[in-house]
Amino acid sequence: MKSLVDDVTVLSDGRKEKEAFMSAVIETAEAIIGSITDGKAYSGLGPYDLRKIIDALPLLPDNGDGWTRMMTSVKEEILPNMLRTWSQSYMPHLHSPVLIETIASELIIASFNSSMDSWDQGPAATEIEVKVINELLSLFGYGSCSDGTFTSGGSQSNISALIIHRDRFLLKRGYDVKKNGLPPDFNKLRIYVSEISHFSFDKGAHIAGLGYESVSKLPVDDFCRIDIEKAEKIIRRDAEEGFIPFMIAATVGTTDFGSIDDIKTLRKIADEYGMFLHADAAYGSGAILSSYSDRVSDLSLADSITIDFHKMFLIPISASALLVKNGTELDSFQLHADYLNREEDEEEGFINLVGKSMQTTRRFDALKVYMAFRMRGRDGYRKIIDTMIGNAAYFFSCISRDEEFIAPVKPELSSVVFALKGGDDRNRNARKTLMSEGTIIGQTVYQGKVMLKFTLLNPSLTKEHIDGLISRLRKT
Ligand SMILES: *Cc1c(COP(=O)(O)O)cnc(C)c1O
Repeated sequence: MKSLVDDVTVLSDGRKEKEAFMSAVIETAEAIIGSITDGKAYSGLGPYDLRKIIDALPLLPDNGDGWTRMMTSVKEEILPNMLRTWSQSYMPHLHSPVLIETIASELIIASFNSSMDSWDQGPAATEIEVKVINELLSLFGYGSCSDGTFTSGGSQSNISALIIHRDRFLLKRGYDVKKNGLPPDFNKLRIYVSEISHFSFDKGAHIAGLGYESVSKLPVDDFCRIDIEKAEKIIRRDAEEGFIPFMIAATVGTTDFGSIDDIKTLRKIADEYGMFLHADAAYGSGAILSSYSDRVSDLSLADSITIDFHKMFLIPISASALLVKNGTELDSFQLHADYLNREEDEEEGFINLVGKSMQTTRRFDALKVYMAFRMRGRDGYRKIIDTMIGNAAYFFSCISRDEEFIAPVKPELSSVVFALKGGDDRNRNARKTLMSEGTIIGQTVYQGKVMLKFTLLNPSLTKEHIDGLISRLRKT
């Protein structure tokens, strides 16, 4: 069957194009809605069965399938096997359902296809990103010299932080890495992170030419926060042995436990050694809009902050930002190209954001944050994030009173790591049993033991649902 969509190429001012666009959007929305059937997070197909289905799909036929055949196949063979983040039975990762208005944002982003590298590729997009960044700087307590940029995710934010701090640290010692590459004693440089920090710091150390060996893993205490006493000893010993400490990364919301490092004390240690202090708040940053914002208010003490909007903020992937207290540090990424971001334009008020980012062509992700912040406001977001944190606290209080469970770390955010009594195998099997019933939960390790994990980002999850899960777990 021929569709209006088959008669057009790109969205444009023409009537035919507008009609085709409308029908494509409506049919797509209907296909998505049609694929939501049973509340389960996943169809249950294993990798071999799913691969068989995908292998059999045509991809680049000699004669195109046309809109209707292509969409029918997407609807029947792909969408049913997508993971449904909105399911109340999905809680293994920091992977959220999305606010409905941000799906509209994605449609706008794709339709206009703005790019953030130069003002002439996204005039309103550039101005909105600057506005959103300024709002974030004030939300996190940063002053007038601060600046920031949107990135593709927490990993890129962390890696960018590592690069700019490396550059600035060495520049202060008279060494221009941007121009000359690393100094001869580069393998003495040290970055300190918690042993349960995100692996993007290792990745970053490699990319930055410092290597994994430059990343020193600080031990954590029983609450999964950097053990300050041990950290001080390690850093002091390194300095005495001739290593060059240049950066500490605090984790504000560890990926598994949601634990929050003691930024105040880490700030003092960083100052003592002339180090930069970065805060990886990819997970915990959302708490700033909750009633529990005091748990993350020390973020303002850090020299840079990683924020992920695609976690607690419920914004579609990808959307992340790096905020930097001394905004000039972002000059690490500044270069000028005659065809793109001429210096003379910038003198006339055109802002070319390419100079603050590792990326060149870049998505207008800031629109999603703008639309969600504006529509929900502080009150709306507070309710949503309070629900996540409240659900984790409720689940923790239920299982800490329950003989069948072990729950070693009190949650500060929305994750709870726990175990059923009876050993590793019981826990592994419990996760598999739940998965076969369509409930996907997480699994990790705490002090050498297999643990289960709930990551409660879904704001429509209720106490009744949690009660149901507890009784289901007890029976495994
Ligand atoms: C998720 C996460 C990251 C990585 O972020 P991506 O957006 O997945 O690249 C980094 N740090 C922490 C603490 C995280 O939870």
